[in-house]
Amino acid sequence: MAAGWQDVVRDAAAVREAAAVAVDAALLAGVLMRTGEQPHSSDVVNYAPFTLLPSAVPRALFEQACAVQQDFNLLVDAVSQNKEFLEQTLASTIKVDDFTARLFRIYMQVLEEGLAQTVFLGINRSDYMFDCGLDGKAALRQIEINTIAASFGGLTSRTADVHRLVLKVLGKTEEASHLLPNNPAKGLALGIAKAWELYGSQRAVVMFLVEEVQRNIFDQRCVENELWNRNIRVVRKRFRDVFEQGSLDASRRLYMDGQEVAVVYYREGYVPQVYNQQNWEARLLLERSRAVKCPDIATQLAGTKKVQQELSRPGMLEKLLPGHPEAIARIRATFAGLYSLDEGEEGDRIAATAIADPDRFVLKPQREGGGNNLYGEELREVLEKVKDSPERTSYILMDKIRPQPALNYLLRAHSPLQMSECISELGIFGVYVRQGQELVLNEAAGHLLRTKAIEHADGGVAAGVAVLDTPYLV
Ligand code: ADP
Ligand code: MG
Repeated sequence: MAAGWQDVVRDAAAVREAAAVAVDAALLAGVLMRTGEQPHSSDVVNYAPFTLLPSAVPRALFEQACAVQQDFNLLVDAVSQNKEFLEQTLASTIKVDDFTARLFRIYMQVLEEGLAQTVFLGINRSDYMFDCGLDGKAALRQIEINTIAASFGGLTSRTADVHRLVLKVLGKTEEASHLLPNNPAKGLALGIAKAWELYGSQRAVVMFLVEEVQRNIFDQRCVENELWNRNIRVVRKRFRDVFEQGSLDASRRLYMDGQEVAVVYYREGYVPQVYNQQNWEARLLLERSRAVKCPDIATQLAGTKKVQQELSRPGMLEKLLPGHPEAIARIRATFAGLYSLDEGEEGDRIAATAIADPDRFVLKPQREGGGNNLYGEELREVLEKVKDSPERTSYILMDKIRPQPALNYLLRAHSPLQMSECISELGIFGVYVRQGQELVLNEAAGHLLRTKAIEHADGGVAAGVAVLDTPYLV
């Protein structure tokens, strides 16, 4: 923890006063979420959970994460265009993981038909933790890269103002002035606007493909409003709306009830539960269309845990990014130990190691959204069960990252104010646009810091575990 907070973090009266100011500031700034009780209405809303104090982040690691983002954009884009790599990498996974298999089938189907889409838009978020080595020196370690529906770029554009005020209330005016400006909402909208422009139809709209239950609507509204500011029309639709209203014309332009769609921005579609037969048909219709999908199905596949693990194999980055040795070095420097559980000797060996020493690892299935990974005793039990069956290959293993905890307060509506030992995860947003073979935009678009109490191994803000935070560089 930054030396600066030690004096206030245990001062109960000061903390109580600052927390009251913080909550009202968050409401005023629009750091909002719909409630669990009324998730379909904005009549009653809460502030989104956040930390009372900004969390210390080593400056060098923060800068390293920002500096590697354009490289990761390049890599994801390269993977998404490499059919051979995706086919080989996912071959074992799709035999046992039905969800990845269905996505892969759509991928093959649209390739066979030939892509109508010519403009490509990627919005991703690369997430990191700060591993505390034995020598006490922290290292940046990538947890994963999210290539679909990476969230909180909107709300986090507003949290730095809240924390700036909190620090002032606590008598830390000088420190308050050091908090970085951050506006991912603007950066994401810039990418969407560029893709919309290159699509080339003034009348066409941007379609946010949203969930049935939209508790996090305000996060999305931040990006939407940036588009309206640029006089770009935005519509919000669900998969079922696409099934009912969507159609393609002869040149595979996408229409929703007669309204042409230039860009489809998915904030949904990354978990199996949302896909019934109709929604799979809707997804296929979107993928076949000329509209710019963010992401297209290939880029969604590029974000799977299995791809992440294969990228860490020696020589793999060199194959995927020939002629980019410096980018490769920067990317590789962020990798944690990742291990394949494919059938064969290599998988047998690492499975046995993990069963013998489960606390060294995290076991990950091909799922997104938090709460799916396995740790400790549970990891051991599951691995014991699947170790001699093909089901083993639906998982990957990863070294467990151990960050240094720090004291903070997690502010949540209807929860008591209570000090917790916390760890943080830093996300950097990336945006890129490609037209045919030419990359016309490639940028880092701001950051997201999420913090949670150490007793939770897993889970993000949407899952109710982590809360929004602001980095304080030290
Ligand atoms: P998801 O797609 O569900 O977000 P992640 O890979 O991001 O999957 O893992 C979810 C959470 O689990 C992370 O936010 C982090 O808190 C924790 N986690 C994941 N990988 C590791 C790891 N290697 N070491 C420690 N914690 C991890
Ligand atoms: Mg994650």
